[in-house]
Amino acid sequence: MYKEKLSLKFVHLYPDEMNIYGDMGNVLTLKRRCEWRGIRLEISKVTLESNDFKKGDIYFMGGGQDNDMYKVFEDLKNSKKDFLKEELESKKQFLLICGGFQLFGNHFIDFQGRNINGLGILPLETKAPSDNLHDRCLGNIVTEIHSKHFEEIKNNYGEKPSKYLVGFENHGGQTYYTDNSLTPLGKVLVGSGNNSKEKIEGVLHENIIGSYMHGSLLPKNPHLADLIIGRALTQKYGEEFKLEPLEDKIEWDAHKAILRKMGILNTD
Ligand code: GLN
Repeated sequence: MYKEKLSLKFVHLYPDEMNIYGDMGNVLTLKRRCEWRGIRLEISKVTLESNDFKKGDIYFMGGGQDNDMYKVFEDLKNSKKDFLKEELESKKQFLLICGGFQLFGNHFIDFQGRNINGLGILPLETKAPSDNLHDRCLGNIVTEIHSKHFEEIKNNYGEKPSKYLVGFENHGGQTYYTDNSLTPLGKVLVGSGNNSKEKIEGVLHENIIGSYMHGSLLPKNPHLADLIIGRALTQKYGEEFKLEPLEDKIEWDAHKAILRKMGILNTD
């Protein structure tokens, strides 16, 4: 337990529309890992109907179907874009999965050629091939965390964490960076990631983590969950937080079971 009473605010962006393939597990994981350490995590939502919403320390948007992405983008553009940009500039933490990740880029062109202009915050663009059924990036995915980000994870996590991330992907969109200012979250060892050519996955850019990993991402990757919590506490309280270790053998067993299943890890 920490000496002072710590708390964080978590904002779930469009939980009704942008929440598929178990993305809600990310919310539960952050909540539990905070609570187990005596840190209060207050959860609020931004919905299509919200006009008056609370500021947060951590913002999260999950994945969504193309049609729901259209609805959400209209609403983002009309009433929430400026607010989110200000929060990003104030160094709040953002976790964006799949459709959420795509919406923060320049644009998303779906398999019918329909164009959604994204928020233009991340220099990337996404285009789905015309055969949305057969050309999907679909299945288990394993990545090796980019060395730059792994250093930060090691400092934050305290003990030696896994250098891998495991998850499940299901997307038509193929994402490419439009300039070289971005660093991927990891290198793809199994699966597709951002697209079927480059073998890179997601992005970790300043205070934004974008990823194609559902499944969900954080329950099976506790080191990434703790990176987000540690960063949010540091941003709020102005000191570097080394998080207390938790009894999380089950979570690590789940992580390792997938690494073994995918042939990345041969032993315990
Ligand atoms: N609709 C988007 C695509 O197919 C996002 C899918 C998702 O969020 N899983 O690329």
